[in-house]
Amino acid sequence: MALIVQKYGGTSVGSIEKIKKVAERVIEYCKKGNRLVVVLSAMAGQTDSLIRLSKEIIDTPDPRELDVLMATGEQVSVSLFAIAVKSMGYDCRSLLGFQASIHTDQIYGKARIRKVDTNRIIRELDENRIIAVAGFQGIDESSNITTLGRGGSDTTAVALAAVLKADLCEIFTDVEGVFSADPNICTHAKKLDRISYEEMLELASLGAKVLDIRSLEFAKKFNVPIHVRSSFTKSEGTMVVEENKEMEKVMVSGVVFDKNEARITIVKAPDRPGIAFKIFDPVFKAGVVVDMIVQNTSAEGLTDLTFTVTKTDFQETMKLLKQVVQEIGAEKVLGDQDIAKVSIVGLGMKNHAGVASKMFETLSKENINISMISTSEIKISCVIEEKYTELAVRTLHESFGLGDEKEKN
Ligand code: ADP
Ligand code: ASP
Ligand code: MG
Repeated sequence: MALIVQKYGGTSVGSIEKIKKVAERVIEYCKKGNRLVVVLSAMAGQTDSLIRLSKEIIDTPDPRELDVLMATGEQVSVSLFAIAVKSMGYDCRSLLGFQASIHTDQIYGKARIRKVDTNRIIRELDENRIIAVAGFQGIDESSNITTLGRGGSDTTAVALAAVLKADLCEIFTDVEGVFSADPNICTHAKKLDRISYEEMLELASLGAKVLDIRSLEFAKKFNVPIHVRSSFTKSEGTMVVEENKEMEKVMVSGVVFDKNEARITIVKAPDRPGIAFKIFDPVFKAGVVVDMIVQNTSAEGLTDLTFTVTKTDFQETMKLLKQVVQEIGAEKVLGDQDIAKVSIVGLGMKNHAGVASKMFETLSKENINISMISTSEIKISCVIEEKYTELAVRTLHESFGLGDEKEKN
C-alpha cells in the first residue's frame, strides 16, 4: 500500500465544481489501495483578496495579524474538500497547520518549517481516513499562526512527504508539468519529462513559480521524488529527481523570468573600506533579501552600487537607504520598479563557452538593453526593461532551440 502526498494549487480548487473533481480524483487513488495526504492551497485569488482587504485599512498591515488572515484561505479549501469527500461516502479529516503539527520559526509571512510531528497524521491515516492538510501555514513556538511565503503550499506538501517518508509527492497544478519556459507566455514551450533538483531549484529561484523554491530545498535534502502534473488531465507530467548519469546534460534547459524585482542604485558613494557593510547591514537586518549586486570601478574615489530586491521590499529598502546615503555622504539613491530579470538555465552550460554571448546577441537583435548581468555555473541572468519581458523570453527560447518542432520550423 503506497503513501502518497498530493498537493492541489489554487486554480485546481478554484470553484466548488473543481473541488468536487479533486475529491473524485483522490477517491480514485484510494480505491486502488493507496493512503492519501492531500495538501490544498486557497481557492484561486483568495490569498490576494485577503491581502487587499487588509490593505484597505493600512498599507503595511501588522504581520502577525496578516498571517492569521491569510491562513483562512486554506482553511476554507480544506474544509470544503473534506465535506466533498465525505459526501461521496469516504472518510476524510481536514487539519490546519497547527493541528498537523507543522512547527515553524517566527518570521511572519516567510516562516520556515522547523519540524513536523507526524503522530496526528499517522493516527488519522491508521483510521483509514483521507487527510486534508491546509497548505502554506504553520505554528511558531508561542502558538502563533505563521505562513510560509507565497506559493508555500508546495513546501508544505514536500515537507510532509519527507517526514512521512511517502512513496511519492504529486504536485497538481494548472499546467501539464515543468516546461522549457512558462507555457502561458511561450506557446512553443516543451514539456520536460525529467529535471534535476539542481536545475529546478535554479528555475524556481529565478522566477518559475511552478514549484516553490523552498519545496525544492526539502526535496533535495530528503530525496523526495516530485511529480509535477496537471489537475485537469491524466497525462504524465515532469519528474523532479536527483541528477543521474543518464540525464542528458543539455546546454540550456529553460528560459525563465521574474517581474518581481526592483533595482536600487546608490549614486556616487565614497569608495573606501566599510561602505558596502554600511549600506547592506541595515538592509539585511530588516530581513530584506538582496539578489544581484554590481559595483562599478571607482572614479575619483566615488563609485555607484546597484542591486535588486523584491518589489515587496522595495519601499522599505528605499526608506532605509535614504538615511544611509546621508550618513555615508553618497549623492543619492535611485529606484526603478519597471524591470524584469530574464535568465537561461542549464546543467550543460558548465562546459560550453559562448552561451552568454549568444544570449546577449539575441537580446541585442531585438534592441533590448541589458542593465545588469549575473552568471553562475548553470545560469545567466540579465535585467531588462519590464515591458520587453515576453519578447525576451520568446526570442531566447527560439534562439536556443528549446521549443517543439513548430518553433524550429
Ligand atoms: P498553483 O496555483 O497550482 O500552485 P502556480 O500558479 O503557483 O500554480 O504555478 C503554475 C504556473 O507556473 C503556471 O500556470 C505557469 O504560468 C507558471 N510557470 C512559470 N514557469 C513555468 C515553467 N517553466 N513550466 C511550467 N509552468 C511555469
Ligand atoms: N495560497 C497561498 C498563495 O497564494 C499559498 C499557495 O497557493 O501555495 O500564495
Ligand atoms: Mg504555486
